Amino acid sequence: SHRLSQLAAISSAPATPKRQRRRDAATKELVNLVVVGHVDAGKSTLMGHILCKLNFVDQKTIHKYKQESSRQGKASFAFAWVLDETDEERNRGITMDIARTFFETKHRRIVLLDAPGHRDFIPNMITGASQADAALLVVNANIGEFESGFDKGGQTREHAMLLRSLGVSQLIVAVNQLDKVEWSQDRYKDVESQIKVFLERTAGFTNIKFVPCSGLSGENLIERPNESCDLRKWYNGPCLIELIDELQAPKRVVDGPLRAIINDIFKSTSTSLSVSVKVESGEIQVNDKLYIMPNADQALVKAVTNDDGGASDCVYAGDQALLTLFGAFEPDTIHPGHVLTSGGKDALMPGRRFMARIVVFDIPIPIMKGTKAELFCHSLCEPVTFVKLVSEISKNNGKVLKERPRCLARNKSGMVVIETERDVAIEPYTVCKPLGRITIRLNGQTIAAGIIESRTD
Ligand code: GDP
Repeated sequence: SHRLSQLAAISSAPATPKRQRRRDAATKELVNLVVVGHVDAGKSTLMGHILCKLNFVDQKTIHKYKQESSRQGKASFAFAWVLDETDEERNRGITMDIARTFFETKHRRIVLLDAPGHRDFIPNMITGASQADAALLVVNANIGEFESGFDKGGQTREHAMLLRSLGVSQLIVAVNQLDKVEWSQDRYKDVESQIKVFLERTAGFTNIKFVPCSGLSGENLIERPNESCDLRKWYNGPCLIELIDELQAPKRVVDGPLRAIINDIFKSTSTSLSVSVKVESGEIQVNDKLYIMPNADQALVKAVTNDDGGASDCVYAGDQALLTLFGAFEPDTIHPGHVLTSGGKDALMPGRRFMARIVVFDIPIPIMKGTKAELFCHSLCEPVTFVKLVSEISKNNGKVLKERPRCLARNKSGMVVIETERDVAIEPYTVCKPLGRITIRLNGQTIAAGIIESRTD
Protein backbone atom coordinates (compact mmCIF):
# COMPACT_ATOMS: atom_id res chain seq x y z
CA SER A 1 0.00 0.00 0.00
CA HIS A 2 0.94 3.64 -0.23
CA ARG A 3 1.59 3.83 3.48
CA LEU A 4 3.97 0.89 3.56
CA SER A 5 6.04 2.23 0.69
CA GLN A 6 6.08 5.60 2.43
CA LEU A 7 7.48 3.98 5.59
CA ALA A 8 9.99 1.97 3.59
CA ALA A 9 11.17 5.19 1.97
CA ILE A 10 11.70 6.73 5.41
CA SER A 11 13.83 3.88 6.66
CA SER A 12 16.04 4.06 3.58
CA ALA A 13 16.23 7.88 3.65
CA PRO A 14 19.60 9.32 4.65
CA ALA A 15 20.04 9.81 8.39
CA THR A 16 20.77 13.30 9.71
CA PRO A 17 24.53 13.74 10.07
CA LYS A 18 25.78 13.86 13.68
CA ARG A 19 27.02 17.14 15.09
CA GLN A 20 29.35 18.01 17.90
CA ARG A 21 27.66 18.65 21.21
CA ARG A 22 28.49 22.17 22.21
CA ARG A 23 26.63 22.32 25.48
CA ASP A 24 28.59 23.15 28.61
CA ALA A 25 29.48 19.81 30.13
CA ALA A 26 29.91 21.38 33.56
CA THR A 27 26.19 21.82 34.19
CA LYS A 28 24.88 19.59 36.95
CA GLU A 29 23.20 16.43 35.81
CA LEU A 30 19.45 16.32 36.05
CA VAL A 31 17.62 13.57 37.91
CA ASN A 32 13.84 13.12 37.84
CA LEU A 33 12.78 11.96 41.28
CA VAL A 34 9.38 10.62 42.24
CA VAL A 35 8.36 10.57 45.91
CA VAL A 36 6.10 7.69 46.86
CA GLY A 37 4.68 6.03 49.95
CA HIS A 38 1.51 5.48 51.90
CA VAL A 39 -0.80 8.40 52.69
CA ASP A 40 0.45 10.21 55.82
CA ALA A 41 3.91 8.66 55.62
CA GLY A 42 5.09 12.27 55.64
CA LYS A 43 6.03 12.80 51.98
CA SER A 44 4.87 16.40 51.72
CA THR A 45 6.28 17.41 55.07
CA LEU A 46 9.64 15.88 54.28
CA MET A 47 9.98 17.35 50.79
CA GLY A 48 8.62 20.70 51.92
CA HIS A 49 11.18 20.77 54.68
CA ILE A 50 14.01 19.99 52.29
CA LEU A 51 12.92 22.70 49.86
CA CYS A 52 12.81 25.19 52.73
CA LYS A 53 16.16 24.21 54.16
CA LEU A 54 17.81 24.41 50.78
CA ASN A 55 16.26 27.80 50.21
CA PHE A 56 14.17 26.80 47.27
CA VAL A 57 11.19 28.45 48.93
CA ASP A 58 11.46 32.10 49.86
CA GLN A 59 11.32 33.01 53.53
CA LYS A 60 8.24 35.15 53.12
CA THR A 61 6.27 32.22 51.83
CA ILE A 62 7.42 30.00 54.68
CA HIS A 63 6.52 32.67 57.21
CA LYS A 64 3.08 32.97 55.71
CA TYR A 65 2.56 29.22 55.89
CA LYS A 66 3.72 29.08 59.49
CA GLN A 67 1.35 31.85 60.52
CA GLU A 68 -1.49 30.40 58.57
CA SER A 69 -1.03 26.90 59.88
CA SER A 70 -0.59 27.88 63.53
CA ARG A 71 -3.69 30.05 63.29
CA GLN A 72 -5.51 26.87 62.39
CA GLY A 73 -3.86 24.91 65.17
CA LYS A 74 -1.95 22.76 62.76
CA ALA A 75 1.54 24.11 63.05
CA SER A 76 3.10 20.88 61.88
CA PHE A 77 1.44 21.24 58.50
CA ALA A 78 3.44 24.29 57.53
CA PHE A 79 6.04 22.33 55.62
CA ALA A 80 3.52 20.17 53.85
CA TRP A 81 1.76 23.28 52.60
CA VAL A 82 4.78 24.17 50.59
CA LEU A 83 3.81 21.31 48.33
CA ASP A 84 0.07 21.06 48.77
CA GLU A 85 -1.66 23.40 46.45
CA THR A 86 -5.35 22.68 46.62
CA ASP A 87 -8.24 24.92 45.63
CA GLU A 88 -9.04 25.32 49.25
CA GLU A 89 -5.65 26.82 49.92
CA ARG A 90 -5.87 29.04 46.93
CA ASN A 91 -9.25 30.25 48.15
CA ARG A 92 -7.64 31.25 51.40
CA GLY A 93 -5.48 33.55 49.37
CA ILE A 94 -2.12 31.89 49.76
CA THR A 95 -0.01 32.66 46.73
CA MET A 96 2.15 29.86 45.49
CA ASP A 97 4.82 31.79 43.64
CA ILE A 98 7.47 29.31 44.57
CA ALA A 99 9.50 26.78 42.68
CA ARG A 100 7.74 23.86 44.16
CA THR A 101 9.19 21.05 42.17
CA PHE A 102 12.84 21.80 41.70
CA PHE A 103 15.97 21.93 43.84
CA GLU A 104 19.70 21.53 43.54
CA THR A 105 22.19 19.52 45.52
CA LYS A 106 25.96 19.75 45.28
CA HIS A 107 26.17 17.69 42.10
CA ARG A 108 22.63 17.31 40.85
CA ARG A 109 19.59 19.23 39.71
CA ILE A 110 16.51 17.42 41.01
CA VAL A 111 13.09 17.66 39.45
CA LEU A 112 10.32 16.40 41.73
CA LEU A 113 7.73 14.63 39.65
CA ASP A 114 4.15 15.19 40.66
CA ALA A 115 4.73 16.87 43.96
CA PRO A 116 2.93 14.63 46.40
CA GLY A 117 0.36 15.63 48.94
CA HIS A 118 -2.75 15.28 46.91
CA ARG A 119 -5.03 12.61 48.21
CA ASP A 120 -5.81 10.99 44.89
CA PHE A 121 -2.21 10.06 44.77
CA ILE A 122 -2.07 6.84 42.79
CA PRO A 123 -2.85 8.21 39.31
CA ASN A 124 -0.41 11.07 39.83
CA MET A 125 2.13 8.70 41.15
CA ILE A 126 1.94 6.57 38.03
CA THR A 127 2.53 9.45 35.67
CA GLY A 128 5.41 10.47 37.88
CA ALA A 129 6.86 7.00 38.14
CA SER A 130 6.82 6.50 34.42
CA GLN A 131 9.15 9.46 33.99
CA ALA A 132 11.32 8.83 37.02
CA ASP A 133 15.04 8.10 37.06
CA ALA A 134 14.91 7.33 40.76
CA ALA A 135 12.43 7.09 43.60
CA LEU A 136 12.24 8.12 47.23
CA LEU A 137 9.99 5.79 49.20
CA VAL A 138 8.87 7.36 52.46
CA VAL A 139 7.71 5.01 55.21
CA ASN A 140 6.28 5.97 58.57
CA ALA A 141 8.25 4.12 61.26
CA ASN A 142 5.73 4.83 63.98
CA ILE A 143 4.33 1.75 65.73
CA GLY A 144 1.22 0.55 63.92
CA GLU A 145 1.52 3.13 61.15
CA PHE A 146 4.34 1.37 59.34
CA GLU A 147 2.34 -1.83 59.54
CA SER A 148 -0.83 -0.34 58.10
CA GLY A 149 1.06 1.26 55.22
CA PHE A 150 2.89 -1.97 54.51
CA ASP A 151 0.07 -4.46 54.93
CA LYS A 152 -2.31 -5.43 52.20
CA GLY A 153 -4.30 -2.41 51.18
CA GLY A 154 -1.44 -0.09 52.11
CA GLN A 155 0.25 1.74 49.28
CA THR A 156 3.85 0.95 50.14
CA ARG A 157 3.94 -2.38 48.34
CA GLU A 158 1.89 -1.23 45.40
CA HIS A 159 4.09 1.79 44.80
CA ALA A 160 7.23 -0.29 45.02
CA MET A 161 5.94 -2.90 42.59
CA LEU A 162 4.89 -0.22 40.17
CA LEU A 163 8.31 1.43 40.23
CA ARG A 164 10.01 -1.87 39.56
CA SER A 165 7.67 -2.82 36.76
CA LEU A 166 8.42 0.49 35.06
CA GLY A 167 12.14 -0.12 35.30
CA VAL A 168 12.91 2.45 38.02
CA SER A 169 15.79 0.71 39.75
CA GLN A 170 17.36 3.34 42.03
CA LEU A 171 15.53 3.56 45.32
CA ILE A 172 16.07 5.47 48.54
CA VAL A 173 13.93 4.45 51.49
CA ALA A 174 13.42 7.19 54.08
CA VAL A 175 12.48 5.51 57.36
CA ASN A 176 10.60 8.58 58.56
CA GLN A 177 8.94 9.90 61.70
CA LEU A 178 11.56 8.23 63.90
CA ASP A 179 11.14 11.13 66.34
CA LYS A 180 7.81 9.53 67.23
CA VAL A 181 9.54 6.39 68.51
CA GLU A 182 12.29 8.23 70.40
CA TRP A 183 14.80 7.39 67.69
CA SER A 184 14.71 3.73 68.63
CA GLN A 185 17.38 1.80 66.77
CA ASP A 186 15.47 -1.45 67.30
CA ARG A 187 12.43 -0.01 65.63
CA TYR A 188 14.53 1.28 62.73
CA LYS A 189 16.18 -2.12 62.24
CA ASP A 190 12.83 -3.85 62.40
CA VAL A 191 11.23 -1.61 59.77
CA GLU A 192 14.32 -1.75 57.60
CA SER A 193 14.51 -5.52 57.60
CA GLN A 194 10.82 -6.05 56.88
CA ILE A 195 10.84 -3.70 53.98
CA LYS A 196 14.17 -4.91 52.69
CA VAL A 197 12.97 -8.50 52.41
CA PHE A 198 9.99 -7.33 50.43
CA LEU A 199 11.87 -4.92 48.17
CA GLU A 200 14.66 -7.35 47.37
CA ARG A 201 12.93 -10.71 47.23
CA THR A 202 9.45 -9.83 46.03
CA ALA A 203 9.91 -6.62 44.09
CA GLY A 204 13.41 -7.43 42.87
CA PHE A 205 15.27 -4.21 43.70
CA THR A 206 19.04 -4.51 43.97
CA ASN A 207 20.03 -0.89 44.48
CA ILE A 208 18.38 0.30 47.70
CA LYS A 209 19.67 2.81 50.25
CA PHE A 210 18.04 3.24 53.66
CA VAL A 211 18.12 6.40 55.74
CA PRO A 212 16.60 7.18 59.16
CA CYS A 213 15.07 10.64 59.48
CA SER A 214 12.30 12.93 60.64
CA GLY A 215 10.71 15.10 57.99
CA LEU A 216 9.03 17.20 60.64
CA SER A 217 11.89 18.02 63.00
CA GLY A 218 14.34 17.85 60.12
CA GLU A 219 16.99 15.46 61.50
CA ASN A 220 19.20 13.82 58.95
CA LEU A 221 17.58 15.54 55.98
CA ILE A 222 20.22 17.94 54.75
CA GLU A 223 22.88 17.41 57.38
CA ARG A 224 24.00 14.51 59.52
CA PRO A 225 22.53 14.45 63.04
CA ASN A 226 24.16 16.73 65.60
CA GLU A 227 25.19 15.94 69.17
CA SER A 228 21.80 16.77 70.63
CA CYS A 229 19.89 14.21 68.58
CA ASP A 230 19.48 10.67 69.89
CA LEU A 231 19.95 9.38 66.35
CA ARG A 232 23.61 10.30 66.65
CA LYS A 233 24.08 7.54 69.24
CA TRP A 234 23.70 4.82 66.66
CA TYR A 235 23.82 6.41 63.24
CA ASN A 236 26.65 8.15 61.50
CA GLY A 237 25.91 7.38 57.86
CA PRO A 238 24.88 9.74 55.09
CA CYS A 239 21.89 12.05 55.45
CA LEU A 240 19.08 12.01 52.91
CA ILE A 241 20.42 14.79 50.72
CA GLU A 242 23.80 13.06 50.45
CA LEU A 243 22.01 9.99 49.07
CA ILE A 244 20.00 12.12 46.66
CA ASP A 245 23.22 13.76 45.53
CA GLU A 246 24.59 10.32 44.60
CA LEU A 247 21.67 9.31 42.39
CA GLN A 248 22.73 8.43 38.88
CA ALA A 249 21.37 10.56 36.09
CA PRO A 250 20.19 8.48 33.17
CA LYS A 251 22.52 8.27 30.23
CA ARG A 252 21.38 10.97 27.87
CA VAL A 253 21.80 9.25 24.58
CA VAL A 254 22.85 12.20 22.47
CA ASP A 255 24.41 9.81 19.97
CA GLY A 256 21.28 7.67 19.83
CA PRO A 257 18.50 7.73 17.27
CA LEU A 258 16.30 10.82 17.35
CA ARG A 259 13.24 10.41 19.56
CA ALA A 260 11.44 13.59 20.57
CA ILE A 261 8.02 13.25 22.17
CA ILE A 262 5.45 15.94 21.39
CA ASN A 263 3.89 17.05 24.68
CA ASP A 264 1.83 19.96 23.51
CA ILE A 265 0.76 21.69 20.32
CA PHE A 266 0.48 25.46 20.52
CA LYS A 267 -0.30 26.48 16.99
CA SER A 268 -1.27 24.45 14.02
CA THR A 269 -1.97 25.50 10.44
CA SER A 270 -1.92 23.50 7.23
CA THR A 271 1.72 24.49 6.68
CA SER A 272 3.24 25.00 10.11
CA LEU A 273 3.19 23.63 13.64
CA SER A 274 4.39 25.01 16.94
CA VAL A 275 5.08 22.19 19.36
CA SER A 276 6.79 21.57 22.67
CA VAL A 277 8.86 18.42 22.76
CA LYS A 278 10.98 16.42 25.15
CA VAL A 279 14.06 15.13 23.37
CA GLU A 280 14.59 11.64 24.79
CA SER A 281 17.38 10.57 22.49
CA GLY A 282 19.43 12.19 19.72
CA GLU A 283 19.44 15.85 18.76
CA ILE A 284 17.53 18.34 16.63
CA GLN A 285 18.94 21.23 14.63
CA VAL A 286 17.39 23.92 12.47
CA ASN A 287 16.84 22.69 8.90
CA ASP A 288 16.67 19.02 9.90
CA LYS A 289 14.18 17.03 7.84
CA LEU A 290 12.19 14.88 10.24
CA TYR A 291 9.15 12.64 10.37
CA ILE A 292 6.29 12.74 12.84
CA MET A 293 5.17 9.23 13.84
CA PRO A 294 2.90 7.32 13.74
CA ASN A 295 1.53 9.13 10.66
CA ALA A 296 4.89 9.68 8.96
CA ASP A 297 4.20 13.36 8.28
CA GLN A 298 7.29 15.09 6.91
CA ALA A 299 8.46 18.14 8.81
CA LEU A 300 11.22 20.66 8.29
CA VAL A 301 12.63 22.24 11.45
CA LYS A 302 12.35 26.03 11.04
CA ALA A 303 13.17 27.22 14.55
CA VAL A 304 14.42 25.68 17.80
CA THR A 305 14.06 27.23 21.26
CA ASN A 306 15.55 25.51 24.24
CA ASP A 307 13.16 25.69 27.18
CA ASP A 308 15.73 27.06 29.59
CA GLY A 309 18.26 28.65 27.30
CA GLY A 310 16.24 30.75 24.86
CA ALA A 311 16.79 30.53 21.13
CA SER A 312 19.45 28.09 20.07
CA ASP A 313 19.79 26.17 16.88
CA CYS A 314 20.38 22.76 18.40
CA VAL A 315 18.79 20.78 21.25
CA TYR A 316 19.94 17.46 22.69
CA ALA A 317 18.67 14.40 24.52
CA GLY A 318 17.34 15.49 27.90
CA ASP A 319 16.19 18.92 26.72
CA GLN A 320 12.70 20.31 26.59
CA ALA A 321 12.29 22.49 23.52
CA LEU A 322 9.87 24.48 21.43
CA LEU A 323 9.98 23.75 17.72
CA THR A 324 8.49 25.42 14.70
CA LEU A 325 7.92 22.87 11.98
CA PHE A 326 7.05 23.42 8.33
CA GLY A 327 5.24 20.85 6.23
CA ALA A 328 1.88 19.94 4.75
CA PHE A 329 -0.25 18.98 7.72
CA GLU A 330 -3.80 17.75 7.63
CA PRO A 331 -5.94 19.40 10.28
CA ASP A 332 -6.19 17.62 13.60
CA THR A 333 -3.94 14.67 12.78
CA ILE A 334 -0.95 15.46 14.98
CA HIS A 335 -1.36 15.02 18.72
CA PRO A 336 0.57 14.92 21.99
CA GLY A 337 2.19 11.49 22.19
CA HIS A 338 3.37 11.64 18.60
CA VAL A 339 7.11 11.32 18.15
CA LEU A 340 9.67 13.07 15.95
CA THR A 341 12.23 10.78 14.38
CA SER A 342 14.75 11.11 11.58
CA GLY A 343 15.01 9.00 8.46
CA GLY A 344 17.44 6.12 8.11
CA LYS A 345 17.79 2.71 9.69
CA ASP A 346 17.26 4.13 13.18
CA ALA A 347 13.90 5.66 12.30
CA LEU A 348 11.11 4.85 14.74
CA MET A 349 8.63 2.68 12.86
CA PRO A 350 5.09 2.75 14.22
CA GLY A 351 3.31 -0.50 15.03
CA ARG A 352 0.25 -2.07 16.62
CA ARG A 353 1.30 -5.35 18.17
CA PHE A 354 3.87 -5.53 20.93
CA MET A 355 5.17 -8.09 23.36
CA ALA A 356 5.14 -6.61 26.87
CA ARG A 357 6.33 -7.79 30.26
CA ILE A 358 3.79 -6.65 32.84
CA VAL A 359 2.93 -6.79 36.50
CA VAL A 360 -0.76 -7.08 37.27
CA PHE A 361 -2.11 -4.90 40.07
CA ASP A 362 -4.48 -5.82 42.83
CA ILE A 363 -7.54 -6.07 40.58
CA PRO A 364 -10.76 -8.05 41.12
CA ILE A 365 -11.11 -9.44 37.58
CA PRO A 366 -8.09 -11.18 36.03
CA ILE A 367 -6.73 -10.16 32.65
CA MET A 368 -7.86 -12.59 29.94
CA LYS A 369 -7.23 -12.97 26.27
CA GLY A 370 -9.53 -10.37 24.70
CA THR A 371 -9.55 -7.99 27.69
CA LYS A 372 -9.85 -4.42 26.43
CA ALA A 373 -8.25 -1.50 28.24
CA GLU A 374 -6.34 1.74 27.70
CA LEU A 375 -2.64 1.92 27.02
CA PHE A 376 -0.60 4.79 28.46
CA CYS A 377 2.93 5.44 27.29
CA HIS A 378 4.73 8.80 27.62
CA SER A 379 2.02 11.30 26.64
CA LEU A 380 0.05 8.78 24.64
CA CYS A 381 -3.29 7.15 25.48
CA GLU A 382 -4.80 4.53 23.13
CA PRO A 383 -7.37 1.74 23.31
CA VAL A 384 -5.64 -1.62 23.54
CA THR A 385 -6.56 -5.32 23.60
CA PHE A 386 -4.71 -8.21 25.21
CA VAL A 387 -4.53 -10.53 22.22
CA LYS A 388 -2.32 -13.24 23.70
CA LEU A 389 -1.19 -14.33 27.16
CA VAL A 390 2.20 -15.82 26.41
CA SER A 391 3.37 -16.85 29.86
CA GLU A 392 3.15 -16.25 33.55
CA ILE A 393 6.59 -15.42 34.91
CA SER A 394 8.24 -15.16 38.28
CA LYS A 395 8.49 -11.63 39.66
CA ASN A 396 11.88 -12.29 41.12
CA ASN A 397 13.86 -13.86 38.33
CA GLY A 398 11.64 -13.67 35.26
CA LYS A 399 11.57 -17.47 34.85
CA VAL A 400 8.52 -18.89 33.12
CA LEU A 401 6.09 -20.41 35.62
CA LYS A 402 3.38 -21.35 33.14
CA GLU A 403 3.10 -21.23 29.36
CA ARG A 404 -0.10 -19.84 27.83
CA PRO A 405 -1.97 -19.19 31.09
CA ARG A 406 -5.73 -18.87 30.82
CA CYS A 407 -5.60 -15.60 32.72
CA LEU A 408 -3.29 -13.31 34.70
CA ALA A 409 -4.73 -12.65 38.10
CA ARG A 410 -3.86 -9.97 40.66
CA ASN A 411 -0.20 -9.58 41.55
CA LYS A 412 0.98 -11.97 38.83
CA SER A 413 3.62 -11.10 36.27
CA GLY A 414 3.51 -12.19 32.68
CA MET A 415 4.47 -11.78 29.06
CA VAL A 416 1.56 -10.67 26.92
CA VAL A 417 0.91 -9.49 23.39
CA ILE A 418 -1.07 -6.26 23.22
CA GLU A 419 -2.60 -4.69 20.16
CA THR A 420 -3.72 -1.12 19.59
CA GLU A 421 -6.44 -0.17 17.12
CA ARG A 422 -4.26 2.39 15.39
CA ASP A 423 -0.53 2.57 14.79
CA VAL A 424 1.38 3.99 17.74
CA ALA A 425 4.88 5.36 18.18
CA ILE A 426 6.18 3.13 20.95
CA GLU A 427 9.09 0.71 20.91
CA PRO A 428 11.15 -1.70 23.02
CA TYR A 429 12.37 -0.38 26.36
CA THR A 430 15.91 -1.36 25.44
CA VAL A 431 15.87 1.02 22.45
CA CYS A 432 14.40 4.03 24.24
CA LYS A 433 13.21 3.74 27.84
CA PRO A 434 10.55 6.46 27.80
CA LEU A 435 8.96 4.96 24.70
CA GLY A 436 8.93 1.51 26.25
CA ARG A 437 7.41 2.08 29.68
CA ILE A 438 3.69 1.41 29.72
CA THR A 439 0.79 1.41 32.10
CA ILE A 440 -2.59 -0.10 31.34
CA ARG A 441 -5.81 1.22 32.81
CA LEU A 442 -9.39 0.10 32.85
CA ASN A 443 -12.27 2.25 34.09
CA GLY A 444 -9.87 4.78 35.51
CA GLN A 445 -7.91 2.18 37.49
CA THR A 446 -4.42 1.02 36.71
CA ILE A 447 -4.59 -2.71 36.13
CA ALA A 448 -1.02 -3.35 34.98
CA ALA A 449 2.32 -1.71 34.30
CA GLY A 450 5.44 -2.83 32.53
CA ILE A 451 7.77 -2.49 29.61
CA ILE A 452 7.69 -3.21 25.90
CA GLU A 453 9.99 -6.13 25.07
CA SER A 454 9.62 -6.34 21.31
CA ARG A 455 7.44 -5.68 18.32
CA THR A 456 5.47 -8.61 17.07
CA ASP A 457 3.99 -7.32 13.83
P1 GDP B 1 1.85 12.57 53.17
O1 GDP B 1 0.41 12.18 53.06
O2 GDP B 1 2.74 11.38 53.01
O3 GDP B 1 2.25 13.70 52.26
O4 GDP B 1 2.07 13.05 54.69
P2 GDP B 1 2.15 14.52 55.30
O5 GDP B 1 3.44 15.15 54.98
O6 GDP B 1 0.90 15.27 54.93
O7 GDP B 1 2.16 14.18 56.87
C1 GDP B 1 1.09 13.54 57.52
C2 GDP B 1 1.08 13.90 59.00
O8 GDP B 1 2.25 13.36 59.64
C3 GDP B 1 1.13 15.39 59.29
O9 GDP B 1 0.33 15.64 60.41
C4 GDP B 1 2.57 15.66 59.58
O10 GDP B 1 2.76 16.77 60.40
C5 GDP B 1 3.00 14.39 60.28
N1 GDP B 1 4.42 14.11 60.08
C6 GDP B 1 5.05 14.02 58.88
N2 GDP B 1 6.36 13.73 59.04
C7 GDP B 1 6.56 13.61 60.37
C8 GDP B 1 7.73 13.31 61.19
O11 GDP B 1 8.84 13.06 60.70
N3 GDP B 1 7.54 13.29 62.53
C9 GDP B 1 6.33 13.54 63.10
N4 GDP B 1 6.25 13.51 64.45
N5 GDP B 1 5.23 13.82 62.38
C10 GDP B 1 5.33 13.86 61.05
